[in-house]
Amino acid sequence: MRKNIVAGNWKMNTSVVEGEALIQGILERMQEVPSSVQLVVAPPFTHLVPAAAALRGSSVALSAQNCADQLKGAYTGEVAAPMIAGIGCQYVILGHSERREYYGETSQTLVRKIDLALAEGLKPIYCVGEKLEEREANRHFEVVEAQIREVLFHLTPEQFAQVVIAYEPVWAIGTGKTATAEQAQEIHAFIRKTIADQFGQTAADEVSILYGGSCKPSNAKELFACPDIDGGLIGGAALKAEDFIGIAVSF
Ligand code: PEP
Repeated sequence: MRKNIVAGNWKMNTSVVEGEALIQGILERMQEVPSSVQLVVAPPFTHLVPAAAALRGSSVALSAQNCADQLKGAYTGEVAAPMIAGIGCQYVILGHSERREYYGETSQTLVRKIDLALAEGLKPIYCVGEKLEEREANRHFEVVEAQIREVLFHLTPEQFAQVVIAYEPVWAIGTGKTATAEQAQEIHAFIRKTIADQFGQTAADEVSILYGGSCKPSNAKELFACPDIDGGLIGGAALKAEDFIGIAVSF
């Protein structure tokens, strides 16, 4: 059966020292977290090596926030999937709306990133979600369907089995506005149906679909109680161990 996952996207926050303290804070409270919940932390690139050392022997998995769309070579400033996998990351966040919006990531780029990540044994946490104007125009289903079709439909069933999907309505990210549990469940069910139509019902039943967008301890329980919400991709609330654990115990 599919995994419940709570993943913390630290974005461009914390110094290395602050990051180490945050990881220690999470590890100290791990006994509160049900063993059925996979915790994942995604610190900035500079923190990944010390984070991998700090997490060794724990059940918390490590993720990068991005990877290059090229394997290696003259790509100044980029970090390649084999580098990320080589230092002990198991996951990589791809297609976050901030990457799409501020760094011009397109479906074409994301296909290359997904393929390179999978070739290295990394599990992509692939983010999808509509903007406010798209929701207001009632286009959220078609937008999310296109983001999934364009980037994931070329995968083999074996490759797809490694993918986690995160539904993050752009209007709810960092805004304090959360999708209602009904809104989130409706689109999560739609995503699962989209997957079932392409990869079959078993693949759809097994894929973890996370909700992201101003998720916090006070709203996580209601969201996670929905049948098609398998956890969360957490931004702001992942920067405090107490809040991150508070979300993880909400299943
Ligand atoms: C995110 O950016 O992935 C996110 C969900 O952010 P926040 O929780 O801060 O809305």
